Amino acid sequence: MTSLLQAAALTLPHVSEETDALRHDVRAFVREAEDRGAFTPRCDSWLAGFSPEFSRELAQRGWVGMTWPATYGGHEQTAVARYVVVEELLAAGAPVAAHWIADRQSGPQIYRHGTESLKRRVLPAISRGECYFSLGMSEPDSGSDLASIRTTATTTDGGWTVSGTKVWTSHAHRSHFLTALCRTSEEDDRHAGLSLLVVDLASEGVAVRPIRLITGAHHFNEVVLTDVFVPDEMLIGQEGDGWRLVTSELALERSGPERFMSTYPLLEAFAGQVRSKSTAEQRAALGALVARLQALRHLSLVVSGVIASGGDPVVEAALVKDMGTRFERDVVETARRHFTRTGDATFARLIDEGLLSAPGFTLRGGTNEILRGIVARALVAP
Ligand SMILES: Cc1cc2nc3c(=O)[nH]c(=O)nc-3n(C[C@H](O)[C@H](O)[C@H](O)COP(=O)(O)OP(=O)(O)OC[C@H]3O[C@@H](n4cnc5c(N)ncnc54)[C@H](O)[C@@H]3O)c2cc1C
Repeated sequence: MTSLLQAAALTLPHVSEETDALRHDVRAFVREAEDRGAFTPRCDSWLAGFSPEFSRELAQRGWVGMTWPATYGGHEQTAVARYVVVEELLAAGAPVAAHWIADRQSGPQIYRHGTESLKRRVLPAISRGECYFSLGMSEPDSGSDLASIRTTATTTDGGWTVSGTKVWTSHAHRSHFLTALCRTSEEDDRHAGLSLLVVDLASEGVAVRPIRLITGAHHFNEVVLTDVFVPDEMLIGQEGDGWRLVTSELALERSGPERFMSTYPLLEAFAGQVRSKSTAEQRAALGALVARLQALRHLSLVVSGVIASGGDPVVEAALVKDMGTRFERDVVETARRHFTRTGDATFARLIDEGLLSAPGFTLRGGTNEILRGIVARALVAP
């Protein structure tokens, strides 16, 4: 139980006046961008709002690759400053999906553990908002049980030959690279012998096939890798490090504000309805949601501080995601229970977007049952 007690003892990272000023800058920018028609606020904008133009605009303002050193095109900002920028973009429902995975997860992973040539190749391009990543973890028969993956990478002259099939790969049809978890050796311990390789999606032998959503939208893919050559420099960490890297990456993936703000634009619209005309019950329902939002925000900020100081808060990140994704779904359910969707057109559209994306909230990045398993194991650990 050590880990959970440690979390309780942690304090919120300090938000400086400079960071407050940054928040106002981002808010002013998104308002201006919305006014000129650069985007329409939507639910689930960090996964569904894919706009290379918008990503490049953010990058020009220094809001992508914020915490990396200038040598790699970064802006040497604090983790709290990045948190504030991300929070404002999510609150606005802005289209940030193009650079999201690269900026949140693959870039930081490469910055910490990548080879020098890989860092120089991708980090400046990510910081310019021009280089996008997909995550190649899940396979047709491996999701929660990730250690059972069957994609293999075998050594060859100057690199690796990779073969296998990845599935549910968000945006692989428009990303440049895929971080692929591969089996590089057979070991008695199945968590050993896994490695993380960066696959250039333009390589020979890569086939990306759409898996359409119920709406017809193309977001998911099946990625088939047939004898794809991956140079040595694209290995992240050491051979056999894959499990450790992927599990520590999950703390980045599970603890950010996107795990409780996917339906924030709907929450704002719900508040708008309450402000214009409401019963005491409707006001109480809104108040209960806002109180939960504040608690989640504090927990998520604490976790971001731990990650920034080199910690690995896997359990705390699991808590953010479990409670956060249930919250974002409850926003949809509460809003539609309290107001009819036949009135305000924006409110109705946001309800529809929330309803259609909600089933994925508690699945993507690890299901809630798996997250509770992680928390339970920490509770019973000696
Ligand atoms: C919107 C979205 C985007 C995604 N994007 C990507 C991506 O870009 N890249 C990628 O690699 N993957 C992606 N995924 C896949 C996602 O990571 C998997 O769906 C998830 O890990 C669950 O795996 P699965 O679908 O195989 O379900 P399964 O693992 O088959 O689980 C099915 C059900 O069984 C339960 N279950 C399984 N094992 C246990 C257990 N031990 N104890 C209790 N219950 C259990 C699960 O909780 C779940 O309810 C995405 C998924 C979604 C919904």
